[in-house]
Amino acid sequence: MLNVPSQSFPGPSSQQRVASGGRSKVPLKQGRSLMDWIRLTKSGKDLTGLKGRLIEVTEEELKKHNKKDDCWICIRGFVYNVSPYMEYHPGGEDELMRAAGSDGTDLFDQVHRWVNYESMLKECLVGRMAMKPALPKGMLPQSQVTDTLAKESPSSPSYDWFQTDSLVTIVIYTKQKDINLDSVIVDHRDDSFRAETVIKDYSYLVHVALSHEIQEDFSVLVVENVGKIEIVLKKKENTSWKRLGHPQENHNSIIPKKDTGLFYRKCQLVSKEDVTHDTKLFCLMLPPSTHLQVPVGQHVYLKLPITGTEIVKPYTPVSDSLFSEFKEPVLPNNIYIYFLIKIYPAGFFTPELDHLQIGDYVSVSNPEGNFIISQLQELEDLFLLAAGTGFTPMVKVLNYALTNIPSLRKVKLMFFNKTEDDIIWRSQLEKLAFKDKRFEVEFVLSVPTSEWSGKQGYISPALLSEFLKRSSDTSKVLICLCGPTPFTEQGMKMLHDLNFSKDEIHSFTA
Ligand code: FAD
Ligand code: NAP
Repeated sequence: MLNVPSQSFPGPSSQQRVASGGRSKVPLKQGRSLMDWIRLTKSGKDLTGLKGRLIEVTEEELKKHNKKDDCWICIRGFVYNVSPYMEYHPGGEDELMRAAGSDGTDLFDQVHRWVNYESMLKECLVGRMAMKPALPKGMLPQSQVTDTLAKESPSSPSYDWFQTDSLVTIVIYTKQKDINLDSVIVDHRDDSFRAETVIKDYSYLVHVALSHEIQEDFSVLVVENVGKIEIVLKKKENTSWKRLGHPQENHNSIIPKKDTGLFYRKCQLVSKEDVTHDTKLFCLMLPPSTHLQVPVGQHVYLKLPITGTEIVKPYTPVSDSLFSEFKEPVLPNNIYIYFLIKIYPAGFFTPELDHLQIGDYVSVSNPEGNFIISQLQELEDLFLLAAGTGFTPMVKVLNYALTNIPSLRKVKLMFFNKTEDDIIWRSQLEKLAFKDKRFEVEFVLSVPTSEWSGKQGYISPALLSEFLKRSSDTSKVLICLCGPTPFTEQGMKMLHDLNFSKDEIHSFTA
């Protein structure tokens, strides 16, 4: 079925629709879409009222600009006049006004820290906050480093480096046991070397401008039981290095993850295959100078310049097929990232993505998300409730659970779609259910044809109570939900009403 936008905006399934709970999105007036905003920013109109001048803003000055028609907000030390943007903001004027005349960084991060405000609001930039001299962003005084980490972990991470004639090894001592190859993200670009290690809710950064040139590829090893990470770089020339390099921003510091900016690298599109009439499997290749593995249940942000503005949207990587985890990896180091992406003909981002040619580049961020793999440990029953592309986080969860959780007795997927043609990977799902007796799949269609003999309708208490049967009264259960926001919200409420506890439910959201 074609996804034809209605006359009203936002469209029925638009990200900008009013959600029934949680953070509301408001209906925008005609002519106030993202594209209209971009047009206005390109029109040459003076949006700050300062005729292109940038000023230093004191706290007293910032406080004065706290009205709708004169509203300044500070985000990460930069002050923006957001009055012209009010009517274009999907979260509505009230949400913006909560930060009027003040530092809105925390509010911004709570709601949409991934939004590329630097690009979206660049014409609204008034200037920088006149700051008292301070440590660079994220660089905590030593006492604070110890304090913040002390709450979470017994000791703070550190690094060291060693060399032979041909190699330089950087060793990161996390002193944590639950560290694996997903925990470290390494990027080497020109002479800049950046290794971000995720330790619980913190990021520890080794970030230097290397003193000598290295070859493009490197290897990453993890000694899991002691939490040691080794990054082995190959020297270009067999000379002795006197030092590793010059410290760059936030080098050797530990920062709450929510305070780190998203880091992107350019990835090449290597293939694009039709999966359904409107959903495609995109394969992106990481540069050889990057080590990045997206953890199960997490998403990344894809960034593309659209009419000169960088636009960012979240997507959840999948494996290349439901059976891939059972095969030997074709190539080491997981250099490919796969995405199942639905193309909305009237959407803003996906048509641009679809227009990319093989060999073109897309920027991919570091992973984000609050799914923790330990939620699957010792699990006996796993229930997955997915609607449309809400299936994407289920792919890796399903694969991981079937392959790595010995206690698992059953996995059941209830997959909601409009029509049979919309079902992603239907034959693979049926094949998997045939091959692995622990797995069952049930399709529910909201707009079925008369030939459809399966379940139909929407998520409902009746459907759920029939579907969610524990294998025993005491079995450890996890229910994962993902789909359009109202689907997820309604599902959550129904699950609570069916007496499932918070710990037994995980909803995938932004
Ligand atoms: P939008 O511009 O947001 O439009 C969405 C809908 O609104 C479409 O139906 C469009 O036709 C309609 N619309 C747009 N403009 C108008 C208008 N002027 N009038 C009427 N109707 C209009 N999606 C995936 O496909 N795969 C994933 O793996 C995936 N993972 C995600 C992970 C997370 C954490 C989150 C939050 C979302 C994820 N999404 C995923 C959704 C994705 O981020 C985008 O929201 C989606 O791709 C739509 O982007 P778009 O800009 O093309 O569409
Ligand atoms: P879709 O095809 O529009 O909808 C899939 C199914 O859900 C249809 O049967 C649809 O029924 C039903 N549905 C829609 N709204 C509903 C509601 N309020 N209550 C009950 N059922 C509802 O879905 P899609 O276009 O693929 O969109 C998928 C959504 O998942 C997007 O919003 C995307 O952002 C989200 N997503 C989130 C994540 C994450 O991690 N957070 C990951 C991937 C996708 P009808 O259309 O017939 O009403």
